[in-house]
Amino acid sequence: MGKNQAATKPIGQLKIIPRSEHNISRKHISKNALKVLYRLKDCGFDAYLVGGGVRDILLGLQPKDFDIATNATPEQIKSLFSNCRLIGRRFRLAHIVFGRDIIEVATLRGHHDEEQENLGKQSEHGQLLRDNVYGTIDEDAERRDFSANALYYNIADYSILDYWGGVEAIANKQIDLIGDPETRYREDPVRMLRAIRFAVKLDMQITDSTAKPIKTLAPLLQNIPKARLFEECLKLFLAGQGLNTFKFLVEYQLFQQIFPNLAEQVADTNSKTYALITHALHNTDDRVNRNLRITPAFLFAAFLWYEVESAKAHYLSQQVPEHDALFMAIHAVLDSGQYNVVIPKRFSSTIREIWLLQPRLEKRAGKRSLKVLENPKFRAAYDFLLLRAQVEQGDLAELANWWTELQQSDELIQKDLIAQVSDDKPRRSRRRNPKRRKKPQQ
Ligand code: ATP
Ligand code: MG
Repeated sequence: MGKNQAATKPIGQLKIIPRSEHNISRKHISKNALKVLYRLKDCGFDAYLVGGGVRDILLGLQPKDFDIATNATPEQIKSLFSNCRLIGRRFRLAHIVFGRDIIEVATLRGHHDEEQENLGKQSEHGQLLRDNVYGTIDEDAERRDFSANALYYNIADYSILDYWGGVEAIANKQIDLIGDPETRYREDPVRMLRAIRFAVKLDMQITDSTAKPIKTLAPLLQNIPKARLFEECLKLFLAGQGLNTFKFLVEYQLFQQIFPNLAEQVADTNSKTYALITHALHNTDDRVNRNLRITPAFLFAAFLWYEVESAKAHYLSQQVPEHDALFMAIHAVLDSGQYNVVIPKRFSSTIREIWLLQPRLEKRAGKRSLKVLENPKFRAAYDFLLLRAQVEQGDLAELANWWTELQQSDELIQKDLIAQVSDDKPRRSRRRNPKRRKKPQQ
């Protein structure tokens, strides 16, 4: 592929929208993204802003990130930027790193043919296992997922290249797959999740032809690496519209593919699991929208909590002691691989701590309660208790209120609060002790 290869050969319905006819201005684009675009251009390459960057500006939104496409190969990109690292095996691309800001630069993709097996590879299900065949912008536009995502802002003349009617799709608020939907979902089943994500995030409609194959093809998500599905889950549930996204995912039977172990519970909107998940997502959305800190650990803890409770009940019924039963249940749920995401260790250890602290919050008598307050994971565990209380009400709500009061009180009142509840465990032990002491006297 030569430098500055003509990108304007019209295919299909290519429309070139000149600067005077659209509202994308360089002031909408981040400084770093502009730096990368201009450096590529000045070195003789084609360079375009693509994807969400163009789409969101057209929608009047602030893009989450700026993705760039170019006809420079990854190696050529690397030679132009000292702050560049090449990543990805399935889809090789360049990251240009500006401190915490990373600009993703992808080489234009082409069609696969059989001789290029080392660069592009398909599974027996039609899934693209590798997508590193480079090509022209015409071909690249065909390989993008939705028409709204296949718009190219050309830094050379500030025009927009629209191959698939993306501008119109955005105006009509439509999420529409490019090409034959079934083939495109088979190539990459994650596109089904992306359809839902964009529809919710951008308040758009999935067109009938794009929506239709989803329920049938949903099981193809089983073939996606669990680490990739975890990353997708973060985008689905932690971007501020998690609750709505969850409801759509359940409706399209996609959530059930990620968490087959929760399929029955999420199908029943009256189940405790459904209630806990929706409360957790509601809280998370609220926190995201108020710019408060969030952790995926909390959410995954909520997804799986009632699985832990029922596994624990099972062990208890087999006479396993309480504390061991909880440990065994957590192990059975968290490490069993019954769901299709890999939860990274840093999060799974927090999940464990949140769960393990629940019984400690239930036994509040004595000085132990003050000790629990000092536990670094107390806040997360307490928030989790509040969530459970929202679902179960009753005793749990009373317990949650007690912990709320304890945190808000001074030392004297704290002592009082603890004394009021010291009737659960310590008194029993006080009763037992005198008896034991009596025996030797007799
Ligand atoms: P956002 O970044 O706001 O989530 P985005 O559209 O920029 O949305 P990215 O995941 O950043 O999404 O991808 C950038 C672009 O790359 C997309 O707009 C799309 O053109 C293309 N793309 C990403 N993932 C796929 C995929 N699985 N199949 C086809 N094209 C894809
Ligand atoms: Mg993006």
